Amino acid sequence: MITRTSIALQSENAVPSEDASEGATLTPRQRSQDWQAQLSDAVRDPYALCRHLGLDPAWLPGAEQGHALFPVRVPHAYLSRIRHGDPDDPLLRQVLPLERESDSVAGFVGDPLEEAEHRPRPGLIHKYRNRVLLIASPACAINCRYCFRRHFPYAENSPSRAQWESTLDYLRQDTSINEAIFSGGDPLASPDRRLAWLAERLADIPHLKRLRLHTRLPVVIPDRVDGALLDWLSATRLQTVMVVHINHPNEIDTHVAEAMARLRGAGVTLLNQSVLLRGINDDVDTLAQLSERLFEVGILPYYLHVLDPVEGAAHFDVPDSEAVTLVETLRTHLAGFLMPRLVREIPGEASKTPLA
Ligand code: SF4
Repeated sequence: MITRTSIALQSENAVPSEDASEGATLTPRQRSQDWQAQLSDAVRDPYALCRHLGLDPAWLPGAEQGHALFPVRVPHAYLSRIRHGDPDDPLLRQVLPLERESDSVAGFVGDPLEEAEHRPRPGLIHKYRNRVLLIASPACAINCRYCFRRHFPYAENSPSRAQWESTLDYLRQDTSINEAIFSGGDPLASPDRRLAWLAERLADIPHLKRLRLHTRLPVVIPDRVDGALLDWLSATRLQTVMVVHINHPNEIDTHVAEAMARLRGAGVTLLNQSVLLRGINDDVDTLAQLSERLFEVGILPYYLHVLDPVEGAAHFDVPDSEAVTLVETLRTHLAGFLMPRLVREIPGEASKTPLA
């Protein structure tokens, strides 16, 4: 029999396997509470996705094509927020593979942010002064079709314990660095024991002030915000900031709201970054509702990114001129503190570039 303890131990080696058999022996009640079981139990093929959502089988061949390029992954907790039988649902469009992903479009490339130029150690990205990004997990709970890291070489950037030590040395030696950012993949796809170890080692570096986490997991599986996560987040001497990733107000249900309340209770500052996506949130009403809803659950809107030109995602693109007009109108609908900053990341620039 698989117990919760044995599942936790198996999961120490990180990413959920493609085989969902581990989760299959759990009772529905255990499954509903255990985030690792929910990760294992995610929908991972186009057929299951279409069947769960009652989509016309005509979507299947295109979905198979997109899936071959970047696999489907959708946890049930997120799936439950998608309208049944509606191919235009804004949450579905973020996860449904399409034939168009195989189109070759000028300017859309494998590494749009040229991150390969800024990796001084495996799993360490140092682009900006004062802060570094650590690839704390190669896995995600959900595969977003527009992801700028959909072609990222995670196999070369999954540090061993010894490689982490080398990264920690790099941070110790550069006293200008005051913030470490857990990224991925999704850093919260890693077990808490591993994250707590890394957070402790970072806290031992005197010039580090902040630990930031860029994550979508508390949104797509709110049960990820459990006691073990809250324990190490509240224990660190570093100030903790979590930048979640929400693109549409329908992503915020009561479970997400409760997860955010738990994080705030642990002293975590909550910010949101969105990507402006054609057909999903490229209208003023949706963006205004998103900001209002974020604030209701204690999250401040931070960035609205224009799409990074990654190969396979060109159909999500909104031209900069249209994005600027949209945001100028949005400004007339929202209080200033609810306005996200419209930005583009330009490789080689010293910071993100504001567009409006
Ligand atoms: S890194 Fe973020 S945007 Fe990319 S697939 Fe994972 S959760 Fe989605």
